[in-house]
Amino acid sequence: MAYRSLNPATGQVERSFDFLSDSDLHAALDRADRCYREDWSLRSVAARADIVRKAAALMRAETTTLAALAVREMGKLFTHALGELALSAAILDYYADNAEEFARPKPVKGYDDAVVHTLPLGVLVAVEAWNFPFFQVARVLGPQLTVGNVVLLKHASNVPQCAAALEDLFLRAGAPEGAFTNLYATTDQVSGLIDDPRVRGVTLTGSEKAGASVAQRAAANLKKSVLELGGSDPMIVLEDAPIEATLDNALLGRMNNTGQSCVATKRMIVIGRERGEIFLEGMIRRMSALEAGDPIDPTTTLGPVSSEAALHGLLDQIQRATSAGARIALGGNRIERAGAYLEPTILTDIDARNPVYREEVFGPVLSFYVVDSEEEALRLANDVDFGLGSSIFTSDLERGAKLALSIESGMTFINHPTWSAPQLIFGGIKNSGYGRELGELGFSEFVNHKLVAISPAGSSPLGADTAG
Ligand code: NAP
Repeated sequence: MAYRSLNPATGQVERSFDFLSDSDLHAALDRADRCYREDWSLRSVAARADIVRKAAALMRAETTTLAALAVREMGKLFTHALGELALSAAILDYYADNAEEFARPKPVKGYDDAVVHTLPLGVLVAVEAWNFPFFQVARVLGPQLTVGNVVLLKHASNVPQCAAALEDLFLRAGAPEGAFTNLYATTDQVSGLIDDPRVRGVTLTGSEKAGASVAQRAAANLKKSVLELGGSDPMIVLEDAPIEATLDNALLGRMNNTGQSCVATKRMIVIGRERGEIFLEGMIRRMSALEAGDPIDPTTTLGPVSSEAALHGLLDQIQRATSAGARIALGGNRIERAGAYLEPTILTDIDARNPVYREEVFGPVLSFYVVDSEEEALRLANDVDFGLGSSIFTSDLERGAKLALSIESGMTFINHPTWSAPQLIFGGIKNSGYGRELGELGFSEFVNHKLVAISPAGSSPLGADTAG
């Protein structure tokens, strides 16, 4: 598919962009490699951090223009886009503020005169998803640029203007040509980049299929990859969870970004039949109160999904779910207006043979379960191939924190849906991928942890029993 800005609220194509030619691609890689070796990796961490900090300031100054781009390209509510940009700028600032400390050489406990340095690796390829077009890229650029790597971005083909705006922003912040480059590349060209010896690693946010393909290519070239893939986050509602606050959180968890978040609350699991009725009724009330409208209007509470194809995919999932016995408690249909709008939908009566029991549903569709015990809730929560985020709602924080350790996921939040902050590491297990972004771990995914051990000149060799 060519790179194209198509407004999902109207169906209008705004702009199209040709794929990059192979010669332009090679020139971009040459520039990135040269920038890395002759300039970027030689600068101090503080000098690189200054540029990243300036990019954050520009992002804040231009937030409404940037937010409007995301709204027009992927249909996100304007208010959600503002939130995404605030988080993205905070991520850039976080790395600008902490990179020096993260990169500081670390002594080796118990072995004097040995230190571990944190050094960059070189050119990285980042393949990113459209759902948070600024955040996905910021959480790569913040750590990678401050540590001294340079980044070639292949963004999703439906957000080309967001990608170009980010590249322009970093250039204006003072990044040299080649430090961060946006490429309108094909997937074949991405494979070619991964094969090139100058590229030292690849990170991908997206589907399992794309992740497996990129990771295989990286492995064949003995290169490191980080994968941030899909999720089907469970939200376990224990018997003592307060009703109204839990419902408010579930609404945010499921409907943020029109349900198109890897860490959205996709499965709500309530313990107790009577409470199950109350929570279902509460979710129906909240989700049916959302009103479809123009996503740029700050009063709109329900935007379109990202594309007509995404809408058809969701309708197909709902249809297959009901054919397999699920009941529609709310919604289930396309909203009759221009644009790719889906009614907020709640599915119940989903058994383990239902396809929707295991699939990720990437849109405003909640799978609602009622169970009789904590054990049953945990079994259900873990009975999927994904393991990204999860949440537990309870008044007993100790019980919640203990139960969190039994959920097969990279992140568990107590009394809040899975969420992102610059300091909090982000990532999953199982088919949700591997590696972490954000926090200090996000800084050290693509580095050379280089050991330097110094012995005094004229030292005798160590005994054979201590050799490595
Ligand atoms: P997708 O199809 O996998 O696309 C993601 C990116 O991968 C796009 O840039 C896409 O390019 C590219 N791509 C697709 N196939 C590729 C291949 N074979 N080789 C190289 N690149 C390839 O994902 P999506 O379905 O649009 O995005 C939603 C998925 O992303 C969901 O599963 C969601 O949960 C996941 N996600 C995960 C996280 C996380 O942090 N874990 C965050 C957000 C989203 P084109 O656009 O050109 O196809």
